[in-house]
Parts: sequence; C-alpha cells; structure tokens
Amino acid sequence: MNLSNAVFSRINMTLKTPFHTSLGTVTEREGLVLELFDGNGACGLGEGVAFSSPWYTEETVETSLEMIREHLLPLLFQEPITHPEDLEKRFSSVRGNPMAKAAVDMAVWDLYAKQQGKPLSDCIGGTRSHALAGVAIGSKNLDDLLNQAEQAQKQGYQRIKVKIRPGYDLVPLKALKDRFPDIQILADANSAYHGYTKDLLALDDLGLQMIEQPFSPDDLARHAAIQREMNTPICLDESINSYGAAVNAVEFKSCRVINLKIGRVGGVTIARRIHDLCMKHEIQVWCGGMLEFGISRAHNVSLSLLPGFTIPGDLSASNRYWTEDITTPELLVDKGLVEPFKGNGIGVKLNRRRLNEVTVERFEYQK
Ligand code: MG
Repeated sequence: MNLSNAVFSRINMTLKTPFHTSLGTVTEREGLVLELFDGNGACGLGEGVAFSSPWYTEETVETSLEMIREHLLPLLFQEPITHPEDLEKRFSSVRGNPMAKAAVDMAVWDLYAKQQGKPLSDCIGGTRSHALAGVAIGSKNLDDLLNQAEQAQKQGYQRIKVKIRPGYDLVPLKALKDRFPDIQILADANSAYHGYTKDLLALDDLGLQMIEQPFSPDDLARHAAIQREMNTPICLDESINSYGAAVNAVEFKSCRVINLKIGRVGGVTIARRIHDLCMKHEIQVWCGGMLEFGISRAHNVSLSLLPGFTIPGDLSASNRYWTEDITTPELLVDKGLVEPFKGNGIGVKLNRRRLNEVTVERFEYQK
C-alpha cells in the first residue's frame, strides 16, 4: 500500500443530552480523527474512541494520542505494508492500547478499500443488505427512561438497551416490559453487580434479550457461573478487549453473546476474527457503540454487514447524539434498519467545516 502522510485532529463536541451509566455521566465527548493519505490523494479515515478519562477502559484520548503519534504512526510508515492485516504484526511491539491501534487500523482499512475501488464491507466479507440497529438509553430516572423508550419505539427501533445498576434494575425493567411488551430489552450493567448476584438472579424471569457485563472485565469465571444459573443469555462487552479474551470467554462458557466493538478489540482485522470465532461456536454477536462520531459509526455499519450480525447493534442515528456530525451523509435508521453507505471504503466523507469547528488540536505526521 502506498502511504504518504497522516493528519490527526483532537476534537470535542457536546452531546445533545447527557448519557448516564453506572460508571459515570458523559456530557462532552472528545475524540481523535485520523486521516491517512496515499500519494494519489485518496484518504482513509479512522477514529480514536477512547474517552477523556479512563472510566470505561484504561485508555484515554491523551494516551491514544501519544500512542498514535509517538509509536504507531512511526511503525506504520517504517516500511511499506501490502494489506491492512499486516498491521497486527507491525504493531506487536506495542502492548495493549487497542483503541489507539484501532484508530490506525480503521484508517488503513478504509484507504485499502478505496484503493481497491470497493466498499469496505465487500473487502471484509459483508453479505447483509442492511445492518440491524438498536438504541442505548442512559437515563437518570424512570420517567426519563420511559420517555426515551417511547421516542425510540416511535422511531422504529426493535431493541432498547438500558443501563442498570443495583437498586435501579427490577423496577425500571418491569415498567419497560409492561409498557413496551413487543420491544426486545437488553440490560447493560457495566460491571456493577459484584456482590449483588441475588439482584441479578431476580431479573431472570423478565424475558430480557440478554444481560450485558454484570461483573468485572477480567472475571470470566464469575460470568461462567452466573450463565450456568441463569436462562437469560449473558453478553460480554468490556471483557472482550482482544481476540485472546474472546477465545477464553468461549472456552470457559462465560457468555452466550458478545458485544463486539472495533475500538475495544484493536481494529477491524481483530473484530472480523472474533466474529468468525463467534459463528464457529454459535455465540451471538452484535456491534456495540462508543458514543462515537461518524467515522467510527460508518466502520460499525461496514462490520455489521458480516453474516454473523443477526441481532441489532448500537447503530443509533447520528442526530440522536449530535446536532451535526463530522461526516456526511449522516447515519440514518429507519425502523431499526440501517442502509449501508454508498461508495468505496466506509462511504462517508468528512464535513470539513464541522470538523474545523470542533477541532481543538491538529497534528501532521510526515513519512
Ligand atoms: Mg456495555
């Protein structure tokens, strides 16, 4: 692959409404936008999805920025690569830091697909005509939750994901079930249930689609034990931060579902491999969201066209979070279906004016 230079921008945007989880509330969202150019003017787009502080995973915007600028880009430009999958080996001297690696991997995959003159989903084996979308609701109280759920239902979402925590679970989930009996409900615990196993077991009769990440990311044994006790499928999210973690989760029977996030596992190459592993072992897989901007959303849509993505992912419309996204066209959801973007690569372009408005710092990396 012919690569010439990279430009990356640190951006900051305010969410339309604050997003609440058991770990914290997000009101401002920082991000990193990576533009990777070849000598012919084609540009691949990647996005760093770490948050400003390490509440969700260890990485932050600041650590990603340093990793990309000081380690990953110098390795990328060190000598030519022939295919995006070469990156995994190229970056093997950098431990961890999957979100930083994913930002570069996304840009390389997008550029590669553009150089091939194909949509990214075609390059990675996508077969689905549409991606399936659900919506995640982070609510501050029950009224807020029911209102947001009603909006989501009106917009045609087939699945609602709700953030729960001990003391805020059975009552709101029952209220949702009673009010919206036909919508699938997924409860995401963001690791809040260590020491609250009884509270979790009490949710088993609700007919939830799944319960996501009740315990700590590294606690595969406890997840396996609760999965043995519960009929409700357990889904792992934060635990799946590498291909090896997915292999262990499957081997230990810690879950029946995996929430796959390109950023958290280190990029498109590894996400696709985890997808293949899930298909082989009949683990359901869906694509998670990171309150991200349009570049990462477009990558999520491309990934969600792989054959194993049979349940709705967190592909909510851009205008759910942002007054104006940094890419065009914006992601639209119609009755829970996302039409793939047209065009080569991920199929979106930067909205340069909007990007400039929200850019805090910009760096250029020359070969
Ligand atoms: Mg989650």
